[in-house]
Amino acid sequence: MKLSLNSSLSEKPAENPEKVKVLILGSGPAGWSAALYAARAELKPLILTGSTLGGQAALTFTIENYPGFPEGIGGMELGELFQKQAEKFGARTEFGLATAVNLSKHPFVITTEGIQYLAETLIIATGASPNKLGIPGEKELTGKGVSYCATCDGFFFKDKKVAVIGGGDSALEEALFLTRFASSITIIHRRDAFRAGAILQKRVKEEKKINLMMDTIPLKIVGNEKVEGIKLRNVKTGEVNTAGFEGVFIFIGHTPNVELFTGQLALDDHGYLLADDRMRTSVPGVFAAGEVADPHYRQVITSAGMGAAAAIQATRFLQDQ
Ligand code: NAP
Repeated sequence: MKLSLNSSLSEKPAENPEKVKVLILGSGPAGWSAALYAARAELKPLILTGSTLGGQAALTFTIENYPGFPEGIGGMELGELFQKQAEKFGARTEFGLATAVNLSKHPFVITTEGIQYLAETLIIATGASPNKLGIPGEKELTGKGVSYCATCDGFFFKDKKVAVIGGGDSALEEALFLTRFASSITIIHRRDAFRAGAILQKRVKEEKKINLMMDTIPLKIVGNEKVEGIKLRNVKTGEVNTAGFEGVFIFIGHTPNVELFTGQLALDDHGYLLADDRMRTSVPGVFAAGEVADPHYRQVITSAGMGAAAAIQATRFLQDQ
C-alpha cells in the first residue's frame, strides 16, 4: 500500500455550494450502475461525467460479453441505455470534470469549473487512461496517424496500411475492428505469445488482412507531418528495421485515473485505488468502483457490479450516519 504525497486540496471557496448525498465521479459502467442503485435508494445521486461520456466502454465498437445482448451491443449505445435507466429513477447528470477534491473534511468538497459540491458520500469511478509507449515520434504524431482508439479513428484509415501495438484483448479486438477500413493490419507484439483470450486469438489468426509481427518492439514512430512508419527491433535477433505504415494504433494497457486523490486515498503498489471487498477506500464515506480500483478484471460487467456494490455501501453509510 502506498499513500503518495501530492494533494488536490486547492478548491476555491464557493458562496453557494450544492449539497448532495451521493456524488459519483465518472460515467462508465461503474458510474452509471452506482447512479442507478443510488437513485433507486432515493438518494438523488449526481453523476459528474468526466471528459468521456460513457468512459472507455463507449469507445468500444461492439461489446459481446455483457449478458443480455446475445448479438452484442455498441459501447456508446450501452452507455446511453445505462444513462437513461439511471436518470429514469432520479439520477442527475452534469457534464464536466472535477478539478479538485478535498476529502479531509466531511461533507467532502468537490470542485468543478463552475460549481462546488458538498458530498456526504463520494463514489469514485474515474476509470483508467491508455498507456503511452513513450518513444520518439509518438507524442508528436498523435492525431497525425498515431491513435489510441480504433473506434474513433479507424474510418480515417480506409485502404491504408496500419500497425497495432500490443498483445492483449484490446489490441486484438481493435485490430479486428480495423479490418473494416484498413487494407492490412500488422499486430506488433513484444513477446511470442498473446495475452488476449483464445476466441480473439483464433479470429485474428483466421483474418486474412491481419499479419503478426511477434518478438518485436517499436523504437520510434517515423514521419514529419504524418506517420510514415515505425522503426522496430526484433528482441530475439536484435535486428533493427523500419517498416512503412500510415497509421499506428497503440493498445498497451491502462493507468488508473487517480490524480485528484493522490495524497488523500491509499493506492496499491500499481497505483490503483485501494478498496476493500465492500468498495470502501481508506476514507470513510468514499467508495471506489470500476477500473480505477480494479487491476484484475476490467470488464464492463465487473465494473457495473462494483458500481452497484459501491452504491449499496454508500446507502448503508448514510443510514448509519
Ligand atoms: P493488457 O491486457 O494489460 O495488455 C497490454 C498488452 O500490451 C500486453 O500484451 C503487453 O505485453 C503489451 N504491452 C504493455 N506495455 C508495453 C510496451 N511498453 N511496449 C509494447 N507492448 C506493451 O491491456 P488491454 O488489452 O488494454 O486490456 C485491459 C483489460 O481489459 C484486460 O483485463 C482485458 O481482458 C480487458 N479487455 C477485455 C476485452 C474483452 O473481453 N473483449 C476487450 C478489451 C479489454 P505483454 O503481454 O508482454 O505483457
